[in-house]
Amino acid sequence: MTSHFEKVTEISLKRAIIYPDAEMHGQMSGFFDYGSVGSEIKRRWENAWREHFLSLNQNFHEIQTTIVMPEQVFKASGHLEHFHDPVAVCSKCGVSERADHLLEEFLGEKFEGLTVQELNALMKKHKIVCTKCKAPFKEIEDKSLMFPLQVGASEDKTIGYLRPETAQGPYASFKREFRANRQKLPLGLAIIGKAFRNEISPRQFVFRTREFTQAELQVFFDPKELPEVPFHEVKDYELIVLPVGAKDAKKVKCSKAVKELGMSEFFVYFMAKMQQFIESMGLPGKFRFAQLSDEEKAFYNKYHWDLEVFCPSFGKFVEVAGFHYRTDHDLGGHAAVSKENLNIPGKDYVPHVLELSFGVDRNVFAVLDNAFREESDRTYFALPQAVAPWDAGVYPLVNRESMPEKALEVFKALRESGIKAFYDASGTIGKRYARADEVGVPFGITIDGDTLKDGTVTVRHRDSKEQERVSAAQLPERLCELAATPQGKL
Ligand code: ATP
Repeated sequence: MTSHFEKVTEISLKRAIIYPDAEMHGQMSGFFDYGSVGSEIKRRWENAWREHFLSLNQNFHEIQTTIVMPEQVFKASGHLEHFHDPVAVCSKCGVSERADHLLEEFLGEKFEGLTVQELNALMKKHKIVCTKCKAPFKEIEDKSLMFPLQVGASEDKTIGYLRPETAQGPYASFKREFRANRQKLPLGLAIIGKAFRNEISPRQFVFRTREFTQAELQVFFDPKELPEVPFHEVKDYELIVLPVGAKDAKKVKCSKAVKELGMSEFFVYFMAKMQQFIESMGLPGKFRFAQLSDEEKAFYNKYHWDLEVFCPSFGKFVEVAGFHYRTDHDLGGHAAVSKENLNIPGKDYVPHVLELSFGVDRNVFAVLDNAFREESDRTYFALPQAVAPWDAGVYPLVNRESMPEKALEVFKALRESGIKAFYDASGTIGKRYARADEVGVPFGITIDGDTLKDGTVTVRHRDSKEQERVSAAQLPERLCELAATPQGKL
């Protein structure tokens, strides 16, 4: 039987959503391309993220910094010293596995953050062997996830690195941005861009890749004067949380979370905003904030919650984003290595950082995975309109009797009103609907004989397959009205 994962990835490959990079030359594992349909979905996800997070404060801005950064940056951030994963290599076939993930697969518990010695002991105790050739693994070693590269001519010894997260850009640009933005805190600097990690065993399609896109917001603030937030907006909103030690996730109103989770309104507000964004992507109730234990979280994170979404393809909750209160680790490290003074004016300490970190690819996949629907005569993605590749398809019923001309007129009018439409005149109308449904287009507009007589068109709804008759002149307005429904917004 074909699994949910196989069905979703099959459509993804067939309909140019996401596919392996440079397939004809043999793909390097962990590299994927977004095709003509996938690029539209990804762009819309990114735009929705921008709109949601950058509108939270007037002093939140998007910047674009380089992907290649100098070695000093990663000395300051601690990546050169600490950014490694434990690798277990099979003594016979040479396959490499991330040791903590291997143990998790065998023993059904999490082992993130354990030392190499602890992991080696567990491997021996539980007699973990290679799943392919049943041979034992060599001693576990830490392996850096950084991608170094030589910059310039070969005599030039300048070493650069591909950034392993977008976050270092805002930290390195903090001083300039702070000055340019009237030295006001909080200051939010966001980047949507590529990150690179030489993962030991890339897997699960775009879930663990070596090149991926992140959407990260770094909020710089004074820890002694926490910024005010419009907490009343979220006070009755319920977070879904799985605190350390709890067996099941529970709902907590933001007003109660402050006491129960021991975090100020400022932090709870941003958790709520993250959850609301995930909810708007058609994933209501399928997520939770999982708190990391002291062993699991990075030593500098005071608060660390992973935002996890349930994916039917994997049959479990998986991390798609992180909420990290990183204290003064970042600016403190950059100030020490660069000898720049990054203190808040008049204070003897640097701003602290709250990081909201999203993996775009994991989010896009989680949305597709949860939106997949199968009926007797069709499969489709019930995507919220905000991330559908197009808002509507425009179809002449037949290619004669002036229907194509009229359909092109309707198509042009929709585009001019800011509605993202495409035109398709090939094949039977049923096949055109099916093609559009398969990639999640919410509406189909058909121009038929009656259109020529009375100026009305058919609007077909993807999920219910219901049809309504609307005057062509009022179509943009009607689509905007429909966009305000739970299906999403234009
Ligand atoms: P993991 O524990 O799964 O390796 P992480 O905790 O190291 O992830 P972060 O460093 O917090 O991840 O990165 C923030 C986000 O970037 C993650 O929540 C995830 O969505 C995304 N991400 C991280 N690594 C990868 C990867 N190799 N491939 C795709 N997305 C990734």
